[in-house]
Amino acid sequence: MTFEKRCLIEPSDFISAQYECEKCHAAILVPIEKLDSDQAASFALTGCTFCNTPSGLQKNTQEMRMYLEFISSLKQIAGALQGRNLKVRLGIECAE
Ligand SMILES: [Zn+2]
Repeated sequence: MTFEKRCLIEPSDFISAQYECEKCHAAILVPIEKLDSDQAASFALTGCTFCNTPSGLQKNTQEMRMYLEFISSLKQIAGALQGRNLKVRLGIECAE
């Protein structure tokens, strides 16, 4: 018999989102219920408040729209799927 370890997360598991500067690793943790697309846009457009490195995302681009829709969806998807006969789970790398 072979066992396969799978690690899956579902939207109701999400409790916070972390915004982190790739360069200096300064991070801000925001609870899911406090996620806000204006705040997300500000984080992206202001760049890192510690080392001043720009995020690389720019206003009115497809990437910025995708990023903002993703942040907005994170907040809303758990409620949208609650009570439905459909589970959506994402696989993640399992910790050893
Ligand atoms: Zn930084």
